[in-house]
Amino acid sequence: MTRVCWRCDARTDDDRRVRCDCGEPLWLDTDPDAVPDSYPTCVESMWDVLPLLGVDAPAPGSGLPAAAGGTPLVRAESLDTDGVTVHVKPEGLNPTGSFKDRGTAFGIAAALERGERRIGTVSHGNMAESVAAGAAAAGMDCTVLVPADIADERLAAIGRYDPRLVRVDGDYGRLYYEALEVGQEAGVRFLNSDAPWRVAGQATTALELLAQLEDAPDAVVLPVSSGGHASGTWQAVRTLTAAGLLDAPPKLCFVQAAACAPIAEAFARGDDTVTAVEGGETIAYSIANADPPSGNRALAAARATDGAVVAVDDDAIERAGRRFASAGLAVEPASATTLAALEPLRDAGVLDQGDTAALVATGRGFGDGGAEVATDRVTLSGVGSLFE
Ligand SMILES: *Cc1c(COP(=O)(O)O)cnc(C)c1O
Ligand SMILES: [Zn+2]
Repeated sequence: MTRVCWRCDARTDDDRRVRCDCGEPLWLDTDPDAVPDSYPTCVESMWDVLPLLGVDAPAPGSGLPAAAGGTPLVRAESLDTDGVTVHVKPEGLNPTGSFKDRGTAFGIAAALERGERRIGTVSHGNMAESVAAGAAAAGMDCTVLVPADIADERLAAIGRYDPRLVRVDGDYGRLYYEALEVGQEAGVRFLNSDAPWRVAGQATTALELLAQLEDAPDAVVLPVSSGGHASGTWQAVRTLTAAGLLDAPPKLCFVQAAACAPIAEAFARGDDTVTAVEGGETIAYSIANADPPSGNRALAAARATDGAVVAVDDDAIERAGRRFASAGLAVEPASATTLAALEPLRDAGVLDQGDTAALVATGRGFGDGGAEVATDRVTLSGVGSLFE
């Protein structure tokens, strides 16, 4: 599985290399000639669409890796906005509740094929849960590096899979690079946010939704933080276009929370490199990477497809979360950003009346919607009077 740099085209067969000498992240080389000439008719898991990526895919194995993906694409009329037709891909249906299971599945399957038994990740959110769960299913040794001040409910969610949990004091952004180096030396496979195997697995979100729609949507809208999922989405679209399965690639539209929006700010400035920001608090806790390791690649993906990168504030995210809920869909705030983005995307002329957009609802999250909830309270004898 050759790895190639999206920017300078440098290649390597070293499957431990994650970044190019130029500093940019590597991804797996794809072969459009190896892509089947039609979409699969049945999508039960990510493994049904993975052949469309034209990479040497590992065997799925069993447990979490085998079960990842295969989420439906839901037509959600009540979420149509400003004349834009909305489809939703509810990634919360994955085994641990987010699309991260796709990247974990590919990474674990590929590591097992090489006889590797030790994996790790740097995360205190969905990725940590996903990697810990995948390792548990595969009987692998797993180390999760979390920030020292991690919240207790996060620890509990990750800890139930019994990984080795390590609190790390210091700059958490720097830890991404530190872990790659240490893992390299110690023979521990770090499945970080934009590791090439993770990106290939996460390309299946887009492969699936394109297989599930009769006509490709005008836009795919997804939240972006490290840029790993955005990269996989671009990799999918590029490969299908090169293979002749896609005539007009959808516009790739990425959304950030206004409080921490380094990629959206670079897009607005017209820059082609992303500059790290301070990063403030946002309810969209899963997309708050202030120094995204695949930020430049995500930016390039939006530009190359005539898409955009926009930022939405917490009020708009909260409103969008309630709209998702009113359609019966439980999504975490990071995913609600996709619906909130439709208005700014329409204003910017990226989306038009009559367009179709596929919103990737990336995760179901920890269940903390963030909003105050009103309740009534009665005694047992008062229950009878509730509906008078
Ligand atoms: C990780 C995550 C994202 C962001 O994905 P990146 O690959 O880091 O850009 C978005 N939504 C949810 C729910 C996530 O867990
Ligand atoms: Zn390079």
